Amino acid sequence: MPDAAVTMDRIVSLCKRRGFIFPASEIYGGIANTYDYGHYGVLLKQNVIAQWWKAMIQERDDVVALDSAIIQHPSTWEASGHLAGFTDPLVDCRTCKQRFRADHVGELQCGRRPSKHPGEDAQCDLTESREFNLMFETTIGPIREFGSTVYLRPETAQGIFLDFKQVLQFARRRPPFGIAQVGKSFRNEITPGNFIFRTLEFEQMEMEFFVPPAEAQHWYEHWMKERFDWYVRLGIDPEHLRLRAHDADELSHYSSATSDVEYLFPYGWGELEGIANRGDFDLSAHARVSGEKLEYVDPQGGERYIPHVIEPAGGVGRSMLAFMIDAYDEDELGGEKRTVLRLHPALAPVKVAVLPLLRKDGHPELARSVYEELRRHVKAEYDDGGAIGRRYRRQDEIGTPFAVTIDHQSVEDRTVTLRDRDTLAQERVPIDGLAQGLQGRLDPHG
Ligand code: ATP
Repeated sequence: MPDAAVTMDRIVSLCKRRGFIFPASEIYGGIANTYDYGHYGVLLKQNVIAQWWKAMIQERDDVVALDSAIIQHPSTWEASGHLAGFTDPLVDCRTCKQRFRADHVGELQCGRRPSKHPGEDAQCDLTESREFNLMFETTIGPIREFGSTVYLRPETAQGIFLDFKQVLQFARRRPPFGIAQVGKSFRNEITPGNFIFRTLEFEQMEMEFFVPPAEAQHWYEHWMKERFDWYVRLGIDPEHLRLRAHDADELSHYSSATSDVEYLFPYGWGELEGIANRGDFDLSAHARVSGEKLEYVDPQGGERYIPHVIEPAGGVGRSMLAFMIDAYDEDELGGEKRTVLRLHPALAPVKVAVLPLLRKDGHPELARSVYEELRRHVKAEYDDGGAIGRRYRRQDEIGTPFAVTIDHQSVEDRTVTLRDRDTLAQERVPIDGLAQGLQGRLDPHG
């Protein structure tokens, strides 16, 4: 288990208290499974996404970037199988008028009190289960009746397949190579979602890796390892992670093999990311429906084939949640309870806080100039509000790895104290060279 102190309630309340993440439309009573990200939430999210791009693009030369449209031609979803098959089985209760996922009834609470599972109470009156499509539908054109029906994408992957031919040309690639994209996807999920684990709209980080068919198994194994290691590198305890292969009856319609990277949430194991061997399902399907040839032709030898695809598909929100839960800790400091997010420095929303000890005696002026220098290099925050202990506590809760305190000695000899979030060591260091020194500590590998 992650640290015994961490519960979903504590994470949810920290997120709200510090403005990371909170329910959307709250002034109207909220809207199911929908959240807004505040200042620190946005910064943390950006850092997660940046680390993903770094692993995909900066540290490799066989993946290129793409940003495709959210609303695509409706034939996309016919070809991909989403119109026919992207469904959940749902049952309605005629008594309480609620709707439930038929395959989750055993874990759900019925509207009746004392709480029972749907169907357990004598007054429950459940319909037969029916399949409901998870795609949100909308219309292009001002008049609904005359417009054409389109869908908000339920995954970013299909945009990549539609652009396969374009990218093949402009990026001058040959398999094995990948196309990566990060963006919002939408699913009409009705299961209550354990905070941001399951939401109606969410960001995905997906990469389709196109390979010669004979190499598919090799690359499947390669990406399983790469993606597992990414979470570990960014601070998740490997004991809290596992790779779980899907049983044959769990596999999606397009997949011949899938493994999920799962995290041990406080309520049990949950998927962070799926790595799927999609074979040539998608390119063949879009070729069939569009009439375009979606294949690789070797310009020299004339060899031609439809590449197979290995797809690592992760969620930004889910991985953020896992990073926060794994980083959450409570300890004691001077007899008081301290809550601290021991986030990896690359993920921490703020890297260094600059704190004048007093609001007089030249402290604020010097602190401000130190802050202005540091923020040219890293995300820094200036805070002069309240007792110094409370300011440290605030930074600990948002996971800031370092705090720089300016005191009377700083004014005299241009040194500051540098406090380490994790060891709590306080070192006296010169202001000159502080930015470079900090960068070295934040990213010891440069
Ligand atoms: P689940 O079985 O939990 O519904 P899935 O297998 O349908 O997930 P995929 O289609 O493989 O999910 O999507 C890839 C990733 O996108 C998931 O691993 C997850 O991180 C994220 N994701 C999918 N659906 C949601 C959602 N409703 N809310 C938040 N993240 C999601």
